Amino acid sequence: MNRSRIDSYQNHPYWWDSGPDDQPINLDRLATPANEIPLQADCVVVGAGYTGLSAALTLARAGRSVTVLDESQPGYGCSGRNGGLIGPSFHKLGLDGLKARLGETKANAIMRESMDILLWLKQFISHEGIECGLIEAGRFRGAVTHKFYGELARQAETLEKVVDLAYEMIPESEQRGHIGSDFYKGGIVYHQDGHLHPGLFLKGLANLALEAGAKIFAPARVKQIESIDNGYRVKLEEASIRCGEVMIATNGYTDPNFPYLRRRVIPLRSAIISTEPLSPDLMRELSPRQHGFGDTGRLVTYYRPSSDGTRMVFGGRAFNQADRPENYTRDLHRLMTRIFPQLRETGISHAWSGTVAYTFDHAPHIGRVPEGAMAGAHYAMGYCGSGVGRATWFGRKAALKILGDPEGSTPLDHLTFETRPLYSGNPWFLPAILRWHNLLDRFGY
Ligand SMILES: Cc1cc2nc3c(=O)[nH]c(=O)nc-3n(C[C@H](O)[C@H](O)[C@H](O)COP(=O)(O)OP(=O)(O)OC[C@H]3O[C@@H](n4cnc5c(N)ncnc54)[C@H](O)[C@@H]3O)c2cc1C
Repeated sequence: MNRSRIDSYQNHPYWWDSGPDDQPINLDRLATPANEIPLQADCVVVGAGYTGLSAALTLARAGRSVTVLDESQPGYGCSGRNGGLIGPSFHKLGLDGLKARLGETKANAIMRESMDILLWLKQFISHEGIECGLIEAGRFRGAVTHKFYGELARQAETLEKVVDLAYEMIPESEQRGHIGSDFYKGGIVYHQDGHLHPGLFLKGLANLALEAGAKIFAPARVKQIESIDNGYRVKLEEASIRCGEVMIATNGYTDPNFPYLRRRVIPLRSAIISTEPLSPDLMRELSPRQHGFGDTGRLVTYYRPSSDGTRMVFGGRAFNQADRPENYTRDLHRLMTRIFPQLRETGISHAWSGTVAYTFDHAPHIGRVPEGAMAGAHYAMGYCGSGVGRATWFGRKAALKILGDPEGSTPLDHLTFETRPLYSGNPWFLPAILRWHNLLDRFGY
């Protein structure tokens, strides 16, 4: 491979350059400059990703005055840079792990909500007419060993009894009908899954919130939140806003200004590369049914055809906490060409990364800050890398809670939002864990 073809890429999300007619999607234009920020609002939402915008939409439609603040631009965080794969995002512990922790009733309710989120998301996109390239073509998850093929089948059988999971086991001999690769030992297709253009989804959601009357300001970094009589004072660099309610939607970008939350989320870098445009024949070979893809490796890998079907978009974990495209581009290219040797001579057009939020119990969390200067502030975060549907859903749920609507309840209510002694938000231990998982993957454990 000519090295220069994988070393000369744009270091920002491919999605930002791939609007209709291949025009940039200009997410920055969704926001008003911070010097026009109002002095008062019913609700202030911190973070203009899916969580914050979904909350803002629900609040504004209920007649509340809503100010959304983002330190960079709408969609600057995960919501403008993710892989766009949608699925039920079942809890990372699996049904058995959840039952052992929370009991059968709660575990089943959490799993059912995961499926509800996916169905709701598809209906929401269609009902609101959001044009975001949603393709409901299912997802193929490859088994990296024969042992994992058996495990995939067992897990799916168990889940089928609890949720209405539509799946099909694909033996190795039939794999080529689903993926242009001989890398896996068979796999499973989850028929309800799909993929969308994450940037256009963000833009659609932001436009709905704006039309409903919400105001979005950026760049506008919140430095401090303090409770005052009948509400909060939200302080920025050169302004402050009084509001009745405040909602924190900062996920993996939660900074030390929100110490209670910062101590409970584990920021983890996820990175993506997109290839140069490929020929229609090669795209048909790689993804004959337009599936999204993933596999059973311990190090998360996710990939898919772009929304216009012209290239592959391939993502996985990055080993560094900082954005180091010179490292993860080569790692991801190596992984991609192990699965698709056909892409060995293909160049990379874009390489980028973002920070997802893991939690110590592997579950998203929604609730109110119980202590400190910002006690009572609402939050929803911690989607553990699967947040297109969940962030949109839990943002809405948090808004319904603010409105006092019983529809705001979720099986995730009242889960303890755990931290660990001495953990202050810097996951220094992660690179070692990721390298260990990488080693296990290479030896097929
Ligand atoms: C590379 C990558 C790939 C992914 N792929 C998928 C996928 O295929 N499918 C899937 O379901 N999920 C995926 N995810 C996860 C998903 O994108 C996230 O879970 C989801 O977008 C989280 O949305 P959010 O609104 O909660 O947070 P974000 O979109 O991260 O938004 C948080 C915002 O808060 C702002 N902010 C932070 N601090 C402040 C402050 N002090 N003041 C003002 N603003 C502040 C930030 O600027 C940021 O815009 C991926 C994530 C990444 C990074």
